[in-house]
Amino acid sequence: MKIAIVGAGVAGSYLLNRLDGHEVECFEMRPQDKWYTVCAWGTSEPYISEMVKRAGFNFQDYVLHKGSKMTVDTGHGTFDIKLSGLVSYDKHRLCEDMLKGKKMHWGTQVKQLDARFADFDLVVDATGMQRALLPKIKNDIIVPCVEYQVKSNKFPWDDFYIKPYHGLTGYLWFFPLGEGMAHIGAGELHGGYKGELEAMLKKYDCEVIRKIGRPVRIVPPAYCQPFSEGKVVGVGESIGTVFPMLGEGIIPSMQCAELFIENIDDMEAYAEEVLKRTDIYAKVFRFVKSKMDGDFSIMRNFPDLLSVYLYMHRNERRFGLQTKLSDLMKLANA
Ligand SMILES: Cc1cc2nc3c(=O)[nH]c(=O)nc-3n(C[C@H](O)[C@H](O)[C@H](O)COP(=O)(O)OP(=O)(O)OC[C@H]3O[C@@H](n4cnc5c(N)ncnc54)[C@H](O)[C@@H]3O)c2cc1C
Repeated sequence: MKIAIVGAGVAGSYLLNRLDGHEVECFEMRPQDKWYTVCAWGTSEPYISEMVKRAGFNFQDYVLHKGSKMTVDTGHGTFDIKLSGLVSYDKHRLCEDMLKGKKMHWGTQVKQLDARFADFDLVVDATGMQRALLPKIKNDIIVPCVEYQVKSNKFPWDDFYIKPYHGLTGYLWFFPLGEGMAHIGAGELHGGYKGELEAMLKKYDCEVIRKIGRPVRIVPPAYCQPFSEGKVVGVGESIGTVFPMLGEGIIPSMQCAELFIENIDDMEAYAEEVLKRTDIYAKVFRFVKSKMDGDFSIMRNFPDLLSVYLYMHRNERRFGLQTKLSDLMKLANA
């Protein structure tokens, strides 16, 4: 098949290396020198390593920091989550390497299927939050985020740290990147972090390497339909593959790319598989949304919370952390 991939983020760059036997071209809106993968670069090493290997790369070459604990600051105290594989890695360099030698059209913003796409059998919308080629989502929820890549020797943390905002409307993060470097960032539904990161930069005497930001979609695939229209098909965050409570979308977008490959001849089967595999995201979303709306009740929401716990507990390797029901309860009360 002749396939166009629109968007060179994690989904697009991974797909470019997984569509053997097809003729593939990628259209990216940013010029090559301005293209950047906005993200905190946290992921689960044991799980992603296998996927990255399938694309012909060695994940170990990109690991920056191996975590042993994540400190959660609830505002009333802290607790530690034991990690089992959560790392930070140089996502930008890996994506960049994945694009090398591929047929790229840099600086090409695609807004519609014009004559350029007449010869393509499929056009993948891998434009992330933009969802440039598929119908807009009714009741979409995108959380604004800002992040700084910084260097300092005055950080009080040497491992992962997060501080959830009241009502689970987002969180502030410190993700170490090794050698005194870190991503400090925050995402909050109402942009309520304003000034907080800048105060941290001052307090910890940070050298700012770069300031980045873009919103992240937290509505799950069940709310992001249709996944395809004509010969356009969405893969990755464009169809909501972000784990809502964590804003974690790297592995989910790559998993989504795999489902696309497995069902490349049947878009209905693809949609069914995506919905089946992300059923748990809808439960996580209901829990997070009830908190956001101030409508959380332990009686009403406990079944969803329990499902989320069981899923994360059974899939420790996938998340790279050891989940306890008591930790989720503390988050529910945050
Ligand atoms: C601040 C922040 C921190 C995050 N941290 C983490 C983390 O630590 N771990 C984790 O797992 N997830 C994290 N996420 C989520 C994760 O980064 C995304 O869910 C994931 O990158 C989505 O991948 P994608 O390829 O679908 O989209 P994207 O990575 O957003 O890529 C989309 C690409 O499409 C291009 N594009 C957009 N519109 C057009 C157009 N019209 N024409 C052509 N090109 C276009 C963009 O320039 C971009 O290159 C974070 C998100 C944010 C915003």
